[in-house]
Amino acid sequence: MAPYLTDWRGMWTGRACAVVFPTSTEEVSAILRWANAHHVPVTPQGGNTGLSGGSVPDESGTGIVLSLVKMDQVRSLNVENLSLTVEAGCVLETIQGVADQAGCLFPLSLAAEGSCTIGGNLATNAGGVGVLRYGVARDLCLGLEVVTPSGEVWDGLRGLRKDNTGYDLRDLFIGSEGTLGVITAAVLKLFPKPHGHFTAMVGLPGIAEAVSLLSRLQGALGPCVTAFELISGQCLDIVLRHRPQLRPPLAAAHPWVALVECSLTVAADAAVDQLQELLMAMVETGEVEDVAVASSIAQRRDLWALREGISEAQGSEGFVIKHDISLRVSDIADFVDQASAALAASQPGIRLGVFGHLGDGNLHFNVLGPEGEDGEVFRTRQDQVNRLVHDLVVEHGGSISAEHGLGVLRRDEAARYKSAVEMRLMSALKKAIDPCGLMNPGKLLAEDAWR
Ligand code: FAD
Ligand code: ZN
Repeated sequence: MAPYLTDWRGMWTGRACAVVFPTSTEEVSAILRWANAHHVPVTPQGGNTGLSGGSVPDESGTGIVLSLVKMDQVRSLNVENLSLTVEAGCVLETIQGVADQAGCLFPLSLAAEGSCTIGGNLATNAGGVGVLRYGVARDLCLGLEVVTPSGEVWDGLRGLRKDNTGYDLRDLFIGSEGTLGVITAAVLKLFPKPHGHFTAMVGLPGIAEAVSLLSRLQGALGPCVTAFELISGQCLDIVLRHRPQLRPPLAAAHPWVALVECSLTVAADAAVDQLQELLMAMVETGEVEDVAVASSIAQRRDLWALREGISEAQGSEGFVIKHDISLRVSDIADFVDQASAALAASQPGIRLGVFGHLGDGNLHFNVLGPEGEDGEVFRTRQDQVNRLVHDLVVEHGGSISAEHGLGVLRRDEAARYKSAVEMRLMSALKKAIDPCGLMNPGKLLAEDAWR
């Protein structure tokens, strides 16, 4: 059972009396009826790539892990409706491939796509690198099939783009991190496939210049701008150190780089010319320091490999205090300046590994220990570092969990900053839908916060 009891980062290890692998919705329903009758806690699990500790059980050993990985069938494809109905255990990369084969695009994309499942993506309302143009997992879902904690099946797989018939149950289960029921299938939105991509790595003197580049690109190309990923120079160094096979994309080092991607539709050539001109004009004025444009599919893949290798490379440097924050794009430069200065003053020697989805106002404002400091020693500073970073985020009107969910990692932090009204409404929902508290206990909401 070991692989199902420890999370991807190896930060949480729980216990369980069994791991069960249903192969159909009927089997999930039977398991939940049984669990309900015998008061057995259930932790739903997909690819177990979650970063907040929501996918593994607690240490009581009284519950079961319900793994969806054997529910991995594509149920139907409807190209005219641009929709695809899949079971929850389908791996994200497989779904992207099915869409591609049908001449369409399923745009949810994240570095864990080879292992994470669509059920997990929806349960955490995952983001990733295509949000700027296509939205988060919630925006890509037209309907769900869910088994409730008492074992009833709700079939909401109609695949409609409009349906205003009361409270939106789909939106309630999306982002509920396994605490309200088990997602067993989903209807996903497909999009027309772009004709090609313009991908470039841009060296930048500061975040303010990155924000202005984003704004200029969006002004010129509108929705063609599909990704705008910001990476600090320090963060890029760490990736290059741990992935020596990847070459530095730009001749010199820069304080920040942005990985920019535009999806090209019919007017591709004109758009490419326009982009090149815009970037070159910004190099002339110094707003942009340097540009490397991918001129082949292999070069595009290599640029993305640098971005996708960040989490793993940082992990190899020792314990990382991770933050998954969102702010108004216009506040990001100010926030990073303030947070960096405050951390440098109170935590001498710490290193920052900042990167993220600038276009969505979402940064992974990660903090690494001083070079050579023992990971366990650095871990003891986590609460202090979190307090400083999260207080500043909230002061700026931001969120302390943009896309990874609360799990156990940010559960109490979220409760600290949410208003009493918000906590009361959330508790009321949990009580109404899972009155016995059997669904993923202790995740998202602490037991004493809702009972
Ligand atoms: P799991 O980890 O198995 O579960 C996550 C949560 O969902 C748990 O609370 C679990 O109980 C619940 N759950 C899972 N399946 C179901 C189901 N069928 N029904 C009900 N509840 C369920 N996330 C992003 O948003 N953006 C990123 O860019 C991103 N990059 C990542 C990069 C790496 C290298 C890694 C390791 C992770 C990254 N993640 C990212 C986090 C993670 O991949 C996502 O949260 C993903 O959506 C989790 O899917 P999963 O199938 O692995 O779910
Ligand atoms: Zn991310």
